[in-house]
Formats: sequence, C-alpha cells, structure tokens
Amino acid sequence: MEYPGQIAALADLLRNCRPCYALTGAGISTESGIPDFRSPGTGLWTKYDPIKTASLTALRRDPAKFYEINLTRWTSYRGCRPNNAHLALARLEKLGYVAGVITQNIDGLHREAGSRRVWEVHGHLRTCRCMKCAGSYPFDLLVERVKSGQNPPLCEKCGGVLRPDVVLFEDRMSDDFFAATQVLTGCQLLIVVGSSLTVYPVAGLPQLARRVVIINRDPTPWDEQAELVIRRMAGQVFTDLMTALGEPLEIGG
Ligand code: NAD
Repeated sequence: MEYPGQIAALADLLRNCRPCYALTGAGISTESGIPDFRSPGTGLWTKYDPIKTASLTALRRDPAKFYEINLTRWTSYRGCRPNNAHLALARLEKLGYVAGVITQNIDGLHREAGSRRVWEVHGHLRTCRCMKCAGSYPFDLLVERVKSGQNPPLCEKCGGVLRPDVVLFEDRMSDDFFAATQVLTGCQLLIVVGSSLTVYPVAGLPQLARRVVIINRDPTPWDEQAELVIRRMAGQVFTDLMTALGEPLEIGG
C-alpha cells in the first residue's frame, strides 16, 4: 500500500477501534534530539553497551563510574521538547481517539506534550531514591550532589547511595509495567511508535492487543503479524494522520 493509503487506513482504524493505546519507544524522541539505542551510527548501543553501563550490577559495583557514564546523557534530555508525534498523541487523547500512552522512554516528553494517561514502564527522571532506606528525593538533588563533587550522591538521612527511579537492566519491572498489562486487556488497537520491539518484557505487550499498527523507521519482529506497518519518521506520520482526521496540528506543533 502507498503511503497516503496507509494514512487513510490508520485514520479509519482510529475512528473504529476503541479502546486504542499507543506503545512508544526511543524512536519517538529522536526527532526531539534524543538518540535511540539501535539506530545505525547514532544509536547509543553503537557507543556503549547498556547492559554493562546502565545495569544494577554496574551501579552496585562502581556507583561513581555509573554516574560518570550516565548522568550527562540523562541531564541532556532536559533541553529537549516534544515533537509532533508526542503532541499528536496528546491531542488524540483529548479528542477521545487514544485512551493512553505506554512508553519505554524516561525522557518525560509525553507528559510535557500534555498526555494525561501515561504509563512509564521504564521509569522516569523526576525522582530518585536511597538504595538503603528507600527515602525519595527530587532527581535534581542527585544531579546537584554529583555536580558539586559528591559522587556517588548520598542520602542525607542514612548515607546510602541514591539511584534514579528508572528501570535498569536486571531491575524488577515498574508498577507502571504491571498496570499497563492490565489496561491492555481488552485493547482493540495498539499503535507502536518508534520501538525496535526487542527489549523484553515490553516487546511482548503487542500480543495483548487485538490489532497492532507499527510506525517505525526500520523493520521489527512484529511486522508480519501487524495489521499495518508504516516505515516512516513518526513526526511526519502523525502530522499527516492529524490532517486526515480533520484535526491538523498547528505549524511547529
Ligand atoms: P530502540 O533504540 O531499540 O529502537 C528505536 C526504533 O525507533 C528503531 O527501530 C528505529 O528504526 C526507530 N526510529 C528511530 N527514529 C525514528 C523516528 N523518528 N520515527 C520512527 N521510527 C524511528 O528503542 P526501544 O525499542 O525504545 O528500546 C530501547 C530502550 O532504551 C528502551 O527501553 C528505552 O527505555 C531506552 N531509551 C530511552 C530513551 C528515551 O527516554 N528517549 C532513549 C534511548 C533509550
């Protein structure tokens, strides 16, 4: 099917399938300036092995090195703004087409775009916690400690090491992940956006939905089973989708 036909088919699916949820990955944020993991050349996996650098083992073994490697990357997300794909998903929720967004991203851009029902299955960068007493603090406190020379950053109450509320490799999954599996029960349409669908257990979520659409620049292991696969940049697809639905996004968002 040609691209205009794909957009028309996606608009039809959105008009006819409720509830519909979106499942997003790092690819939805590349147009906001945040590199994904697996894109050739720019993907982070071409530079670091996240299992070695963003794992619980790495944090426990050498927390100071863990922050040296990861903190600059995480704080760099702060200058980034939602793009048309994030903005369209927020608008589709307000219009009643989309019931919510399940995201693997920790960048917070769905909330910033105005999405209200968001399940951040790999956590977020708003808070951190003490690994010893579980005391909770703003993530900014952790950043300030490291920047002012306290690396690893420590809990002011018990002296334990602070860690971000993101799901590291080897961590248990978040409460949001288990909540997402619940909301997907009865999901009629799942729109996957910008995910290679290779990181488990999230990559198994499409099997809970009746119909699956994939919007991803590169092929995924789910393409064969999907109802519709659009291999294009997400920002363009969502801009065209909103026009097809008669709800065009304003220029520049
Ligand atoms: P991934 O890197 O494995 O796959 C991203 C996919 O997005 C690729 O298949 C690529 O073809 C596609 N893509 C890239 N830019 C695109 C665009 N503009 N439009 C459409 N498709 C595009 O990402 P993943 O599946 O999310 O898994 C990586 C893991 O890394 C996730 O668990 C996530 O938590 C984490 N991560 C998060 C961020 C973030 O918060 N923004 C960034 C990097 C990694």
